[in-house]
Amino acid sequence: MEKIRNFCIIAHIDHGKSTLADRLLDFTGSVTEREKQDQLLDNMDLERERGITIKSHAIQMDYVHNGEKYVLNLIDTPGHVDFSYEVSRSIAACEGALLVVDAAQSIQAQTISNLYLALENDLEIIPVLNKVDLPSANPEEVTDDIVDLLGCKPEEVIQASAKTGVGIEEILTAIIERVPAPKGNPDESLQALVFDSVYNPFRGVETYFRVVNGEIKKGQKIKFVATGKSYFADEIGTLKLTQHPKNKISTGDVGYLITGIKDAREVKVGDTITDSADPTKNPIGGFEDVKPMVFAGIYPVDTEDFEDLRSSMEKLQLNDASLVFTPESSAALGFGFRCGFLGMLHMEIIQERLEREFDMTVITTVPNVSYHAYTTKGDIDPIIVNNPTDLPDPSTIDRVEEPYIKATIITKADFVGNVMSLCIEKRGQIVNQTYLTTERVELIFDMPLAEIVFDFYDRLKTVSKGYASFDYSPIGMRPSKLVRVDILLNAQPVDALSALVHFDNAYHIGKKMCEKLKELIPRQQFDIPIQAAIGSKIISRETIKALRKDVTAKCYGGDISRKRKLLEKQKKGKKRMRQVGNVEIPQQAFMAVLKLN
Ligand code: GDP
Ligand code: MG
Repeated sequence: MEKIRNFCIIAHIDHGKSTLADRLLDFTGSVTEREKQDQLLDNMDLERERGITIKSHAIQMDYVHNGEKYVLNLIDTPGHVDFSYEVSRSIAACEGALLVVDAAQSIQAQTISNLYLALENDLEIIPVLNKVDLPSANPEEVTDDIVDLLGCKPEEVIQASAKTGVGIEEILTAIIERVPAPKGNPDESLQALVFDSVYNPFRGVETYFRVVNGEIKKGQKIKFVATGKSYFADEIGTLKLTQHPKNKISTGDVGYLITGIKDAREVKVGDTITDSADPTKNPIGGFEDVKPMVFAGIYPVDTEDFEDLRSSMEKLQLNDASLVFTPESSAALGFGFRCGFLGMLHMEIIQERLEREFDMTVITTVPNVSYHAYTTKGDIDPIIVNNPTDLPDPSTIDRVEEPYIKATIITKADFVGNVMSLCIEKRGQIVNQTYLTTERVELIFDMPLAEIVFDFYDRLKTVSKGYASFDYSPIGMRPSKLVRVDILLNAQPVDALSALVHFDNAYHIGKKMCEKLKELIPRQQFDIPIQAAIGSKIISRETIKALRKDVTAKCYGGDISRKRKLLEKQKKGKKRMRQVGNVEIPQQAFMAVLKLN
C-alpha cells in the first residue's frame, strides 16, 4: 500500500491532459513501440465497434524510483461540465492531482473549478506548467499566476512539455514524493468506490473502482450499497493498456470488475461496493443519484417509427444510465419521448448516437430545465415541470422555482464590460470579481441554468472574441417569474413549439420567435399567420405570405428524370419536416427559440 500512488490530471480543455498522460505511459514503459502502433488501431476499431475506450478511465503504470518499485494509478476525469459529478468521483478516488496549466493560456475557468474539486477532496496538488516549448509561452508570468492561485512556491511548479518530454521525469518523482500513499485498513469489510463504468456489449458493464478498505476477491459475492443488489465478482483485475485479471485487489488499489450486469443503470458512479455477507456499515460519502438537468422531446420524423425509437432509446440507456425518458404525446408531433439529459452536450451526443448507431431520424423540441411549480392549493411537494405542457394554469400557480448555477468566467480585462452586460441580460447577479493578474479577471455570477441553455456559449464567445472560459456548478432552486409562450400557426396552437420563459423576456422572445418562424417555415399556396400568445393573450404576430403562381410553376418545370432523382434522394434522407395541420414545419423551427439573437 505504501508503494501505491493514485492521481488524476486536471486541466482546462486543450491544456495537454491527454498528451501528458501519453508521455507518462511512454516514460514508464507502459507501452511498447509495438503496442503503441497496435493500440492506436485497436483503439479506433474497439471504439467504433464496441463503444469503449481503453486508455481513459484508469491506467496502471509501474515505475522504479530510488530502487523501489511503485504502482502509479492514473485515474481519468471527463472534460466537460455536463459530467462534473463523474469528475468529482474520480477525484475522490485519488490522493493527488497534477494541475496542468498551458504556459501560453495560463489559468482558465476549468482549471479553477477542477482545482476546487480537488481541494475539497484534500488532494495534494502538483502544479505543472505545460507547453514550455511553445514560442508564445510566458513561463515566468504563468508561474506567478499559479503561485498566486495555489499559494505555493515558484520552485514547486514543474516546467514541462508533454510534446518534447521536458519535465516528465520530474513529474513522476513529484508524484512519488509529494502524493501521499493511500490509507485504509485491509482487514476491514470491503469498501470500494465506483468512479466510472463502461458498457461492453460482449462482457456487460465493466465497473471501475478504488478499494478504500478491505479487499475484493475473484468470485466473491459483492453488493452495491445504493442499488442494494448483489452479484458475483466473475472477473476482477487491473488496467494497463489491456485488462490484467487478478485474484484480488487490495486496499488503496484501483481495478475493474465484471459481474455480467447488462444494464448500465445497475452500476452507479459514486456507489460503494461491499461484501454481500459482511456489508460495511459506512458507505463512502458523497454518493448522489445524478439528475438530468435539461429536458427535451424527441419524436420520430415518421410517426410509424415510434416503436423503433423506443427500442433504440432502451438500448442507448443500457450503456448510458444518465439518459432518462418517458413516453409523451404532442398534438403536433404525435407520440415521442420526453428525455432528460445531463446538459446540452449530453443531449447532442444522444441525438447523434440515435442517428448514427440506430439510423433514427428524429425531431427534437426546445430543451428546457426542470421547474418546480407550487399551486395556490398549498401543496408541500412541487409539481415538477419538465415539459411546457406540465405548467399548471397560471391562475392556479402560487409560485415557481427554477434551478440556479454558480457561473465562473475568466476573461481578459478588456472584455469585462461585455461579459458583464451579457450575464446581466441573462438575469445573472454578480457575486465576485477578482483580478487574477492585471490582464485577467475572474467573474462569478449566480445565474438561472435556463439562460445557459439558450445560446449562452456562442454569445460569450462573440462578446469576448474567444477570450473567455466558462464553467458552472448547480446551487439549487430559486423563485422565478415563469410563463409559457405558445405559438399558433393558422390560429392552431402547436404544442411542440411552446417554450417556458421568464416573464420579463416573454414579449421580446414571442416577437423574435414569430420572426424566426416566418424565416424558417416554407411558404405555401396560402397565407400562414404566426402568433405568439401567453394564455389567451396574443403578444405578437407575423404572416408567411402565400407563394406567387409563377414561382410554383417553376418547380414543376424542368427535366423529369432529374426531378425523379431528387424525389428519391429526398425519400432516402427523410426530410426532417413535420406536417402540422396543413403547414410543414422544419426541424430548425422547433429549435428556433434557441437562436433568436
Ligand atoms: P487536453 O484537452 O487537455 O487533453 O489536451 P491535449 O492533450 O489533447 O492537447 C491539446 C493540444 O495541445 C494538442 O494539439 C497537443 O498536441 C498540444 N500539446 C499538448 N502538450 C503540448 C506541449 O507540451 N507542447 C506543445 N507545443 N503542444 C502541446
Ligand atoms: Mg483530452
